[in-house]
Amino acid sequence: MEDIYCFAGNPLDRASERRRDSEWIRSLLAHPASRMLPLRDLKPATRGEASLSLDWQPVEAWSEAIENGATLVFLGLDEGRAHFAIDASGVEPGFAEPAEALDVRSLAPLLPATEAAILAEARSLIDWHARHGFCAQCGSPTRVTAAGWVRRCPECKASHYPRSDPVTIMLTIRGERALLGRNRRRPGNRFSCLAGYMEPGETMEESVRREVHEESGIRVGRVRYLACQPWPFPSSLMMGFLCEGLTEEITVDPEELAEARWFSRDEIRGMVARAATGPDDPTQLSLPGPVAIAHHLCRRWSYGLDDL
Ligand SMILES: [Zn+2]
Repeated sequence: MEDIYCFAGNPLDRASERRRDSEWIRSLLAHPASRMLPLRDLKPATRGEASLSLDWQPVEAWSEAIENGATLVFLGLDEGRAHFAIDASGVEPGFAEPAEALDVRSLAPLLPATEAAILAEARSLIDWHARHGFCAQCGSPTRVTAAGWVRRCPECKASHYPRSDPVTIMLTIRGERALLGRNRRRPGNRFSCLAGYMEPGETMEESVRREVHEESGIRVGRVRYLACQPWPFPSSLMMGFLCEGLTEEITVDPEELAEARWFSRDEIRGMVARAATGPDDPTQLSLPGPVAIAHHLCRRWSYGLDDL
């Protein structure tokens, strides 16, 4: 089995062959065991303080909002029990929020891993609906069908499906050193793997080589896939690679990076250890925490668990 990182490992059976059956979905909505996760402004209801969990609620509590047209999506079945999510933005009375509702990225590390994965599915879908009210082909308002998995245009009959945007993210290795960059938009000493959206007509390997060259001027040879992670901001698939740096001299793309550097295995191991245990200390070099696949690419290479 592959390694599972934050937002992966969703335990729900999405029942994709059955969810177009509106009678079946209606029967699930009427079933007292079914559960609803409300999200407001893309932040979910949660319960607990010391240990947080998603606040799954009875569907009945949301029947008025459903009738009034709030966006509803079927997430899947867990041992036969249906799980739904609803966009509760602007719905009154909505749900009781903790003093500070956390965004999904801050919340995910505090949740059980399976709940973080379900939340990724819910957040990406609710966000997609909020941004796709009109047909991309003719501009008419579209309607939700297939339990939230299709938007159909009543005018031109086009069907629109939620998508994942593929991103390649890579650690470039040259001998005993690896290349990390510091983003222009992030202050402090936080370095990370280079990354970028794949473009149409490109393979994953071509995308890796292009991104590294564009951002750092380094030429890349071999490319090895390691692991991937759903990233629901709004709906990316982060595909992680190790790749071979063929050249050494760095020329940073100033639009993207403030700085890029080669780091030794020991340096990266120290950054991984600090990032795994606490918040950034701006005086020290750091990396993203374990919520992000960049952390694991750095961890796996620096600890000798993986190599090119
Ligand atoms: Zn249309």
